[in-house]
Amino acid sequence: MSKIISLAKRRGFIFPSSEIYGGFGSGYDFGPLGAEMKNNIKKVWWDEIIKNHQNMVGLDAAILMSPRVWQASGHLTAGFADELVECKGCHKRFKKDELKQKVCPECGGKLTEPRNFNLMMKTSVGPVEEEATTAYLRAETCQGIYVNFENILNSMRLKIPFGVAQIGKSFRNEITPKDFIFRTREFEQMEMQWFCRPKEAIKYFDFWKKERVKWYLSLGIKKENLRIKEVPVKERAHYAKQQIDIEYKFPFGWKEIEGVHNRGDFDLSNHSKYSEKDLRYFDEETKEKYFPYIIETSGGADRSFLAFICDAYQEIKGGRTKTTEAVKEVEILLKLDKRIAPIKVAVLPLVRNKPELVKKAKEVYQLLKPHFICQYDELGSIGRRYRRQDEIGTIFCLTVDFESLKQEDLTIRDRDTMKQKRVKIKNLVEILKEKINVSKNNS
Ligand code: ATP
Repeated sequence: MSKIISLAKRRGFIFPSSEIYGGFGSGYDFGPLGAEMKNNIKKVWWDEIIKNHQNMVGLDAAILMSPRVWQASGHLTAGFADELVECKGCHKRFKKDELKQKVCPECGGKLTEPRNFNLMMKTSVGPVEEEATTAYLRAETCQGIYVNFENILNSMRLKIPFGVAQIGKSFRNEITPKDFIFRTREFEQMEMQWFCRPKEAIKYFDFWKKERVKWYLSLGIKKENLRIKEVPVKERAHYAKQQIDIEYKFPFGWKEIEGVHNRGDFDLSNHSKYSEKDLRYFDEETKEKYFPYIIETSGGADRSFLAFICDAYQEIKGGRTKTTEAVKEVEILLKLDKRIAPIKVAVLPLVRNKPELVKKAKEVYQLLKPHFICQYDELGSIGRRYRRQDEIGTIFCLTVDFESLKQEDLTIRDRDTMKQKRVKIKNLVEILKEKINVSKNNS
């Protein structure tokens, strides 16, 4: 894991938050490459959910909502709390279910009885800080969907079954944020809520479970690194009638990256009760009024980012190139799916001390820049530059050489096969679009 963390920092994927002040609360910032990659993940998720399914719409709800929402959802009560124990000696706190021993792991001191610790982050809304102004940063994005159920239904004239997708930040005052960006206090979720007839809930639960596994595999996650955990009744979230976790085999063990839940009518019936608004659905076909059941797919943009980067990371001892000095080195290859790789193309003049090559390469870079996220790089030997690009997962390297000046062409090198081919500069945009399939991704 430490190698991935160091690559992420060195190459501009992820930095510790507020680093010049010593970091803050195990938070992280996504650097230039990280921001591109995370946007790509969210875009691919959004496109897949919104475009590939019938009766699917999107939402972007506020982070701050009425505190009543969190009373209705159960987040302000014991349901959304971790059991903590405190060391009587050093006063450090630990999650009870993570402790293997009965004494403090830090100083060996005696521990208190477990107490519940609520994970909601509190803030104050308005200029006066008093009880009445207390609000909470949302702990999950889906509540914004439930409280807008009627608005969405009426404005979009939808009929059951239909789904609502949303991407956004969530906050949890995690006691033990850890494992890099796996568990943080501020994170982004990609959630979809599917409203359906109660008797069809089991069918749709099964459907969405398969769809979500397919999504990870389609983006290159290795089959052997992904599994489904059927969550037993006593471990399920308080609202879940059925629950599976999609788990990824991280370097620190098998861990959840996404949950699929059959939430029954828990959410709409509770919001009806607390808001005193009838959120039942009138089914024109059956002439019945009922609370739809909800199937939820709840994934994390940050956790899947970590899974994608772990899965793509390869070290090749002695290097892949057998013809150059790289033979002695360990080469890093980030074999990211082309849709999520942050840099699609790198433009490289063969050498940088020939002004005509540099000029041509810069022209090519300007030509491609409006179409793809690209980099221009002239520093170091060409072999070193290829390796630098492999390390960040750049899909194609374009090299402008002496022949380019005569023939108006260049070489295009494939990251995975390292094969090179000459192509005409005038055809470059079309060729790359086809290879990278940006039209599908960006339409
Ligand atoms: P865990 O058991 O790991 O705390 P959870 O079961 O509480 O997770 P859910 O409430 O089901 O998680 O949230 C859905 C998804 O949101 C998770 O699968 C994960 O991808 C993401 N997520 C939840 N908590 C965090 C966190 N603290 N940091 C990063 N991502 C998170």
